[in-house]
Amino acid sequence: MALMKWWGWGDEGVSFTHEDKPALREFIKRAIDIDVATAGSPLVAFDDLEIAEPSLPEGLLEALQAAVGPRHVATDALDRVVHARGKSLRDLVRHRRGDVGRVPDVVVHPADEDAVAAVMRTALGHDAVLIPFGGGTNISGSLEAPEDEARAVISVDLGRMDRVIEIDHESRLARVQPGVFGPDLEEQLGARGWTAGHFPDSFTHSTLGGWIASRSSGMQSDKYGDIADLTRGLRVVTPSGLLAIRPVPSTSTGPSVREMVLGSEGRLGIITEATIHVHRAPERRSILGYLFPDWRRALEAMREIAASEASPSVTRVSDARETQFSFAARKDPTLLDRVQWKALTTYLQRRRGFDLEAMCLSFIGYEGGEAHVKAQRKLVGEIVSRYGGLCIGSGPGALYDQKKFDTPYIRDYLLDRGALGDVSETSAPWGVLPRLYENVTASAREAFDRLGVTGWVMCHLSHSYHAGACLYFTFALKPSGSREPLEEYDAVKSAIQQTFVDSGATLSHHHAVGTEHARWLEEDISAPGVAMLRALFEGTDPGANLNPGKIVGREREPASSARRAAVS
Ligand SMILES: Cc1cc2nc3c(=O)[nH]c(=O)nc-3n(C[C@H](O)[C@H](O)[C@H](O)COP(=O)(O)OP(=O)(O)OC[C@H]3O[C@@H](n4cnc5c(N)ncnc54)[C@H](O)[C@@H]3O)c2cc1C
Repeated sequence: MALMKWWGWGDEGVSFTHEDKPALREFIKRAIDIDVATAGSPLVAFDDLEIAEPSLPEGLLEALQAAVGPRHVATDALDRVVHARGKSLRDLVRHRRGDVGRVPDVVVHPADEDAVAAVMRTALGHDAVLIPFGGGTNISGSLEAPEDEARAVISVDLGRMDRVIEIDHESRLARVQPGVFGPDLEEQLGARGWTAGHFPDSFTHSTLGGWIASRSSGMQSDKYGDIADLTRGLRVVTPSGLLAIRPVPSTSTGPSVREMVLGSEGRLGIITEATIHVHRAPERRSILGYLFPDWRRALEAMREIAASEASPSVTRVSDARETQFSFAARKDPTLLDRVQWKALTTYLQRRRGFDLEAMCLSFIGYEGGEAHVKAQRKLVGEIVSRYGGLCIGSGPGALYDQKKFDTPYIRDYLLDRGALGDVSETSAPWGVLPRLYENVTASAREAFDRLGVTGWVMCHLSHSYHAGACLYFTFALKPSGSREPLEEYDAVKSAIQQTFVDSGATLSHHHAVGTEHARWLEEDISAPGVAMLRALFEGTDPGANLNPGKIVGREREPASSARRAAVS
């Protein structure tokens, strides 16, 4: 896989554009007072970046070359910068203006578990820092080395470990290496008639190991589960040896060590293999679009679908503002599209009493055999009707399905024009969701007003569970120009995150903690919870060599005796 853009999302030469979306320019002007035809601040050229030379203790480079092979150890500037951070808004803004932070001194590309173990021994022997790297797509500051890290920093890129090792057809389990990217995983499984069913929006550029280490969730989690549900067995190279978790369906072996590895963000070791659930590729897959008269009824319908006998693979509904954005971002409609749209909106207003400003767009996905899909659609259709909604067919769903992996490019498009756009997501019980939604949108608007900036906040519900669902907020603002833009971004992001924990929701449903969300951890899981995590990390990694500072913040300086014990 080619390196991602050092300054933004995805592949060089691919970008988002408004040119083929006739309503988008006007929409963005209204929402955040930005004229997209006006170029913003230009990007710093890569050659103008100031990148510190690698600083490696004597013998470390040679030992790493011996561990993974000389061709698989990189100290060139581009490799180091690409591996320095993830893709949070803060990462993108700083990289674009030439602030690349504490870049790793060296990037290694091991080919197998033995090579990873050799890298681990070498790093501990030289008291170096190890940061596992999957696709580099996290948006929680999970990859960046502390600014003042004085030890050598080694980025361990798992990209060469990209194979599906074997599939146990009887048990429906696959042993998979951690560095496989989403499309490659699905291609290898699909060739044998299987799917993992894990499709995060970052699918094209993220890896199995990264998903596990950050507790990812895919768009079809309603059917397949989150990565935490579909990961059964694990092999992890830790400072004290190989941790092996058997791929049993369930177990009663004390607190779950498997769960400790899930979401561990490289703090406990390097995942070298996972055994995951796989499913037979479905005979039929369809995503239908629905419209609801308002958010309240849309939420109630989603709750009732989750409580019913229906088992859709996707349940997603946008609030009125996100619905307006989705319609504004439609590509050039044909004449027929325009006529049909006019007929539909006239019908909705005149016959169904819809207020088009309050209307909410929903996508619901179905998978399985023909009869199953038909029965599911019927069950869901009845619930949707009870809440005043109606089905608008497969067209919008198919379009959404095709375009979902293109939307990540929009943040760069906004940054090119001087606007900041980002997301914050959470989960909460069904009973909390309506109030949570009101609280978060109000706190975002208050933050915009306090700052005196033009801002936009919108939301969708996705990932439904027995007890609740995820609410996913997207916000954008035009910086005032009178402060540091990241300060204004922080004020809005913090207001939203604080409202999550104040309202009884979690700091993140699937974007992990990293450094970005660490300050809300104690409010989320309580002080004893944080103390347990800290003890787990310190006990497993007494020298604080593994991705230090993530999840629970910086630890105290490790005792040199503990450091020696880890090395021996
Ligand atoms: C535009 C966009 C859309 C996104 N959409 C989604 C979404 O729909 N759902 C979702 O869940 N997330 C989403 N994310 C967030 C991100 O893609 C996930 O957090 C993803 O799981 C990260 O995977 P990665 O391979 O890129 O990991 P990285 O970013 O490389 O690493 C993430 C963390 O995992 C650790 N790690 C990586 N590999 C290993 C390993 N083998 N062993 C131990 N630790 C390891 C790293 O050290 C780091 O702490 C999105 C991000 C962006 C930018």
